[in-house]
Amino acid sequence: MAMKITDECTACGLCLPECPTNSIAEGDIYIIDAGTCNECEDQPDGQHCVAVCPVDCIIKA
Ligand code: SF4
Ligand code: SF4
Repeated sequence: MAMKITDECTACGLCLPECPTNSIAEGDIYIIDAGTCNECEDQPDGQHCVAVCPVDCIIKA
């Protein structure tokens, strides 16, 4: 299971440094690697990328 970034992404960059598995890459819209994103299942405070995204464009893939 992995999260996905939608076309609403503004490429603000806030999510990238927050990912504990380094699964986020820069681009015109940012991209989550479905092979390494674990939905922060081991993080007690939930999905770090979702928590910081100002436009709520990170969803379940
Ligand atoms: S859900 Fe967690 S592991 Fe997946 S991209 Fe977001 S911060 Fe990274
Ligand atoms: S925080 Fe949201 S808007 Fe900003 S780069 Fe990440 S996915 Fe895109």
